[in-house]
Amino acid sequence: MSWEKNVRKVEPYVAGEQPKDRDVIKLNTNECPYPPAPGVKKLAETLDCDRLRLYPDMNAEKLVNALADYYHVAPEQVFVGVGSDDVLALAFMTFFNGEKPVLFPDITYSFYDVWAQLFRIPYEQCPLDENFRIKKQDYLKPNGGIVIPNPNAPTGVLEDRDLFEEILAANPESVVIVDEAYVDFGGKSMIPFIHKYDNLMVVQTFSKSRAMAGIRIGFAIANERLIGYLKDVKFSFNSYTLNMPSIEMGTEAVRDDAYFKEIVGRIIKTREWTKKEMGRLGFEFQDSQSNFLFVTHRKVKAEEIFLALKENHIYVRHWKKPRIDNYLRITIGTDEQMQRLIEFLEKYLKEKSDD
Ligand SMILES: *Cc1c(COP(=O)(O)O)cnc(C)c1O
Repeated sequence: MSWEKNVRKVEPYVAGEQPKDRDVIKLNTNECPYPPAPGVKKLAETLDCDRLRLYPDMNAEKLVNALADYYHVAPEQVFVGVGSDDVLALAFMTFFNGEKPVLFPDITYSFYDVWAQLFRIPYEQCPLDENFRIKKQDYLKPNGGIVIPNPNAPTGVLEDRDLFEEILAANPESVVIVDEAYVDFGGKSMIPFIHKYDNLMVVQTFSKSRAMAGIRIGFAIANERLIGYLKDVKFSFNSYTLNMPSIEMGTEAVRDDAYFKEIVGRIIKTREWTKKEMGRLGFEFQDSQSNFLFVTHRKVKAEEIFLALKENHIYVRHWKKPRIDNYLRITIGTDEQMQRLIEFLEKYLKEKSDD
């Protein structure tokens, strides 16, 4: 059709499947297997629905203040959005506005190249080494910005904060985004370094460690000047993004630190058990500090295992992409879910080797 030549064409991000069948063991999108903090449920039951006739607080002050308190920063250094996808997309639009390429790893969160294409941002993907580690020198060349998850996804590999310090110090003319979607599962946050580097933006989410993927809350912490620019773009695009119930429930989730630490601790314990079992079954993987393992099997092809698991109602993630097509990303679920996964794999792999 002739109007099509003026259409902004993009190849969209492909998210992991959300099966309708509730009986599947769902280990494919890194959600938390435990419910949100008990206070969140209580709040949902007593929510004053009359207030829904009003617009929500467009500054989400309550939630911003709770996050500022929790992370020991000023409210002016906090930005909240509808999931970290919203925060990251706005950050790409705001900060990656130059001619030079934005840099990120070749194996990483597969939304980065989608946003770069959507916003017409030049970019370059820097290959990880054979152990899926960041090669520092790749980020010491001229660039229009940098974005790296730590731990990285879907590899689960955690880099030391020194690496980011070196990258930040070498790039005072670029905004450096550290995507900490999984940092609560064993990493150390770069948040304290926002006071030292005015070009650092740390992004986190409620979707994984805070068990609230369905509510859509993400946030950025950075120098207040940087946050100011992000707000200018946000308020030029859509002011009322976070709804009132999300603001209330998100605030409650931040307040219950004991529950947060408990479920994160449980997931870490289950992860370490799963690592041992997977090793025993002949899987290889880099040491994950996230809520998932990125594994390859010594003998059996990843895609074959993926399909066998799916047929047996266990969903994991597999990408038909260069360098990672023989890997599976497996989210850490409850102890019981992981036991069922291991039992299935043990039987399946044994039958395979008997053939
Ligand atoms: C899950 C994830 C996000 C996005 O999470 P939201 O649900 O949009 O908050 C961002 N970055 C990485 C690396 C992720 O894995």
